Amino acid sequence: MYIYIYIYQILGFGWRKKLILPLFVDAGFWRVEMGGSYEKIKKNGDVGGDACCDPSEETDPVNRTKGKKLWKKVKYELIGYHSLPAYLKDNEYILNHYRAEWPLAHILRSVFLLHNETGNVWTHLIGFFLFLGLSIYTAQNIPIVDDLHPLQRLANRLPNPFSIWGSNGAEAGLLGEDGGTGPITRWPFFAFLGGAMFCLLASSACHLLSCHSRHLSYVMLRLDYAGIAALITASFYPPVYYSFMCNPFFCRLYLATITALGLATILFSLLPVFQKPEFRPVRASLFFGMGLSGAAPVAHKLILFRHRPEALVTTGYELLMGALYGVGALIYATRVPERWRPGKFDLAGHSHQLFHVLVVAGAFAHYRAGLVYLEWRDAEGC
Ligand SMILES: [Zn+2]
Repeated sequence: MYIYIYIYQILGFGWRKKLILPLFVDAGFWRVEMGGSYEKIKKNGDVGGDACCDPSEETDPVNRTKGKKLWKKVKYELIGYHSLPAYLKDNEYILNHYRAEWPLAHILRSVFLLHNETGNVWTHLIGFFLFLGLSIYTAQNIPIVDDLHPLQRLANRLPNPFSIWGSNGAEAGLLGEDGGTGPITRWPFFAFLGGAMFCLLASSACHLLSCHSRHLSYVMLRLDYAGIAALITASFYPPVYYSFMCNPFFCRLYLATITALGLATILFSLLPVFQKPEFRPVRASLFFGMGLSGAAPVAHKLILFRHRPEALVTTGYELLMGALYGVGALIYATRVPERWRPGKFDLAGHSHQLFHVLVVAGAFAHYRAGLVYLEWRDAEGC
């Protein structure tokens, strides 16, 4: 009996390819349609023939080998939105080039293949390596305690569990013991870099692996949400710490508040309902609200240091970061531009890719602000 493999693929940019493969495998009837989705029709009684379904059941060794090869090839074709299992249906304006329930090895190799998640994976994977490089570069080139303040070497040798380079004048300032200049602790700055790297790597892994199975999709999406909450939370640490290191009450109040908000968001995101497509605006609003809560410490900083150029420069970077994240959240929630031309942005240019690029750009603006804070507080302390 003939088996027809019917592949009808739309390859993204307006041209179509239609391929019909007759096979001599006495196995059943399989059809691949609209971007390569497969379905067995034989069992539904659409065509006559034997009720066999898997080419591996073929008794002729030659035909069985052919069947297996074709089965492997066909099974891991990219498929269309309407052929996806329900848990993978997220954006109805992206019509084709989906992977669905591939084996893990195939999914890992697909990082180098072209599908509708390739751009999402690489935008944040490149962002991760960018921030890894920035972390290494900054750690190697940032002025260390002894470079700036040789006279304070002794004090800097004192143990301090919260400081990467040991205790210093700023910690003393935070504790209200010393209002003089001194090199400051770096942990808030590197906490931000760590949060950014965690977010970007978790997001990249989520986009690569979620199509494997319902269970892995659930786990990876939680990791993705946790990464976003971690990035937003960690983004507060440098501005809050370095702005209010001489006001321990407000410093601790703002740090505790944003940390509690971040943890609450992570816990809320554990609810299964959180990932439903109709909750996209809720997700966007929640993360946007977390970011917006940064307005309070920034406004407070401007009141305290309105005559300081460093305060104005860092506020400029923070406004830029907020604008980039805000536009990103808006694009994410509205799914522009693919909603205007469904299927035309499947591979490149859809809203999630734009959102990813804006997140990396926003985090980079924040990194620049962090450098200004370090320079300012290194030079002046409290
Ligand atoms: Zn993403």
